[in-house]
Amino acid sequence: MTGPTNTPARPSAGRAAAKKELPEHFKAYKHVWVFVEQERGQVHPVSWELIGAGRKLADKLGVELAAVVLGPSGAATRGIVAESFCYGVDLAYLVADDILADYRNESYTKALTELVDTYKPEILLLGATTLGRDLAGAVATTLLTGLTADCTDLDVDADGSLAATRPTFGGSLLCTIYTLNYRPQMATVRPRVMPMPQRLENALGRVIEHPLAIVEDDIVTKVLGFLPDRDSAKSNLAFADVVVAGGLGLASPENFQLARQLALVLGAEYGCSRPLVQKGWVTSDRQIGQTGKTIRPKLYIAAGISGAIQHRVGVEGADLIVAINTDKNAQIFDFAHLGIVADAIRLLPALTEAFRRRLSPHSRDRIAS
Ligand code: FAD
Repeated sequence: MTGPTNTPARPSAGRAAAKKELPEHFKAYKHVWVFVEQERGQVHPVSWELIGAGRKLADKLGVELAAVVLGPSGAATRGIVAESFCYGVDLAYLVADDILADYRNESYTKALTELVDTYKPEILLLGATTLGRDLAGAVATTLLTGLTADCTDLDVDADGSLAATRPTFGGSLLCTIYTLNYRPQMATVRPRVMPMPQRLENALGRVIEHPLAIVEDDIVTKVLGFLPDRDSAKSNLAFADVVVAGGLGLASPENFQLARQLALVLGAEYGCSRPLVQKGWVTSDRQIGQTGKTIRPKLYIAAGISGAIQHRVGVEGADLIVAINTDKNAQIFDFAHLGIVADAIRLLPALTEAFRRRLSPHSRDRIAS
């Protein structure tokens, strides 16, 4: 029989050991915030997706969900506040000042950190866009708190801490990261990773307006002009309803055109796996996956793609995945809804022809235009 010994209990390992009593000055931090990203009055849809994700976190924590809107004074910025209520926030923090008309790291960081210091959110979410990544890093550094970038899942654990999951080790593993002893807990999420929440008409909420505590002379960077990106409308891959993609199985840039032709007939966007970009067959804005775009179409057709984890994380949100692969054991068949074991180089032209014949004249006209 063994009895109690005087040996001290081994300290528990990992996260349990790391969790300490939250410092007193962080205990006042409450509520979930979503930064609503806008440029020239256009809201990036990832903001609405994050409001959907934030709603679930706030409900689980029993706290309020707030939008943070920064922009120039005027109707457009106030319209964004009103729109954020339609996607489900309870209240909105608004800093409306013409200094915020164009995104500059300095002014936006100042505005957002001051809001955080004043109203103390426990969770702050931003889109992992070019703007969101730039802002999130600067805000987290200024506030000396943790930031988990490019999350694929967000949850709240039994203790009420944000569990932010993201790929690691080149996407071969998923890890869940906690910011246990600092506030706010910050995370960024790429567009299309979270589903778009339902939009409700005429929703209302509270608006808390906060002044911007800087003047133009305080900011080093100046906006001299605005040149729209000529390529910005080129690929609508992330938001397309139908996507056809090709992989190395198509064997040549000429054969990749077979995937493009099917996309054209379906009125779809086309994409590819990473090796095709690396080989210079396809431009990088068409890459799908962990280091490319995340897509969430109604239909995704993958031809000659093996389904490596780095590709899979970018397509898992699709409603229907149809895979064409010569290898019946290809990984893609583990998560495709419909699998076709066939030579894509022969099947793609047959599919294109079949859809061309079956699509209505109206669809054909639309595609031709
Ligand atoms: P392969 O793996 O070579 O697969 C080709 C497939 O085609 C095979 O399954 C084969 O059976 C099939 N095939 C062959 N001939 C035919 C035919 N005639 N008809 C039909 N099928 C055929 N990859 C991405 O896609 N996106 C990313 O964002 C991405 N990010 C990455 C990030 C990191 C850090 C790393 C390390 C890797 C990343 N990768 C990414 C690469 C990824 O690991 C795979 O190497 C890549 O997805 C494989 O591309 P593939 O499926 O086209 O080629």
